[in-house]
Amino acid sequence: MKIQRQKKLKKRLEFFKNNFGFNTPYSLIVDGTFCFAALSHKVNIREQIPKILEDNVKILTTPCIVTETEKMGPALYGAFTIVKQFAHHQCGHDVAVNGAKCVRSMVKGGNKSKYAVATQDQALRAQLRTMPGVPILYLHNSAPTLEKPPEVSTERAGRREADRVGLSEDQRQTIASLKRRLLGETEPTLRRSRKTAKGANPLSRRRKQAAPAPEPAEEATAGRSRRRRRVRVHVAAHVKEELARRRSPTVGGPT
Ligand SMILES: [Zn+2]
Repeated sequence: MKIQRQKKLKKRLEFFKNNFGFNTPYSLIVDGTFCFAALSHKVNIREQIPKILEDNVKILTTPCIVTETEKMGPALYGAFTIVKQFAHHQCGHDVAVNGAKCVRSMVKGGNKSKYAVATQDQALRAQLRTMPGVPILYLHNSAPTLEKPPEVSTERAGRREADRVGLSEDQRQTIASLKRRLLGETEPTLRRSRKTAKGANPLSRRRKQAAPAPEPAEEATAGRSRRRRRVRVHVAAHVKEELARRRSPTVGGPT
């Protein structure tokens, strides 16, 4: 179970790292509600929280959060003593606003400073789920838990992925249609070339090459034989001589 939880945590953390540029050291904003729950469940934030954030996290709070928690009075005094220990990140509010509003102001507009937020405030968590790229931590009883990335984050990540591939996505479609058109034309050629390739089988080719090769040889021999025949015709000059001899009396007869 613990291993499964770790795997889930790692996967969720990886999501924010891969899609929203989160990396160590993480910056985690904790609010009074989280400190209150931690105190109730005897969770030491400084010891327990780094364990789920790769042991590399800056735990922060804001003056607004500290002021709000202090204002809550004795019920949250313990939480106040805890939260005020963390580094007070300047939120830019000259007049303190409520903690939830302060947190929202710090992560709005795409959470450029890459804050994670630790809160038990259900309403704030619901609001943060509508803002892409905000890792939300809470205590599940005494177990620090990283919320599953909300849809708004997964959708944004998907869109970014599409944007990244976007240019080539359009190009891909163009290429795809081009390919289709080209393949429509070239496919038979390809098939033909495949046949040629098959025909190029050295055995059959050799046969084919061998077949025409003897032909000129035959022609040559035929030519030679013809020449020989011609020679024979010359040789047949004996016959001619004989004929001539035979003819010579007739030729010589009158002379
Ligand atoms: Zn503030």
